[in-house]
Amino acid sequence: MKVWFLGTGTSQGIPVIGSTHPVCLSTDMRDKRLRVSVWIHWANYSYVIDCGPDFRQQMLTSKCPKIDGIIYTHEHADHTAGLDDIRPFFFRQGDIPIFAHKRVIDSLKKRFDYVFEEENKYPGAPSVKVIEVVNNQPFLIGDKTAIPISTLHGRLPIFGYRIDDFAYLTDVKTVAPEEREKLRGLSVLVVSALRHEPHNSHFNLEEALEFIADIAPEKTYLTHISHMMGFHAEVEKILPKNVFLAYDNLEITI
Ligand SMILES: [Zn+2]
Repeated sequence: MKVWFLGTGTSQGIPVIGSTHPVCLSTDMRDKRLRVSVWIHWANYSYVIDCGPDFRQQMLTSKCPKIDGIIYTHEHADHTAGLDDIRPFFFRQGDIPIFAHKRVIDSLKKRFDYVFEEENKYPGAPSVKVIEVVNNQPFLIGDKTAIPISTLHGRLPIFGYRIDDFAYLTDVKTVAPEEREKLRGLSVLVVSALRHEPHNSHFNLEEALEFIADIAPEKTYLTHISHMMGFHAEVEKILPKNVFLAYDNLEITI
């Protein structure tokens, strides 16, 4: 299974529009971060987790040929705003499966009402096939099982996912002990770490490192990174062995 980091930035991306912060002006490509998403593919299967505002650009850069499903973590715009751009996939493949919590589906229905329209649908609009994700109910993606991991993003319950020995958790602030138990024995963990300073709805670097020490995966990649985290090259130097900052267009094999 391969995991392509389509975007590794926080909600505004890096560079932030109009910012003169040194990280936003960096010429290191690893300091340029689109909104957070991953493309997971194996055999003939192809899934993305989240579908943010940079989705079109990410699909072009990664040359992703098809999508068997979009698996959502939560409804915030940096994770959902790209849904309209599934059109090229929809035209070739038909209805695109979306996997999400019921609350996220309801939010998508409000934001993208025309996608869910059943009568008098605009001819160019895409359609989706909705699969509701419920905690403690693993579901099939291709020939693999995805296990939902329920976490808290501030006070909002959201999902991360485990697929085989890979897990992806973004926008995390709190993970209950019973959910941590679902994350034992990982070869690769991806988890969000926003910046150094504390934040009310995201792990900062210190909290992410404490969490990683508890879960003890073989390797961890940090994502959903703000420009306030600092330069990629500098932050990497202070990370423990086997913990890395992800960067856009990094592809790893699980
Ligand atoms: Zn986010």
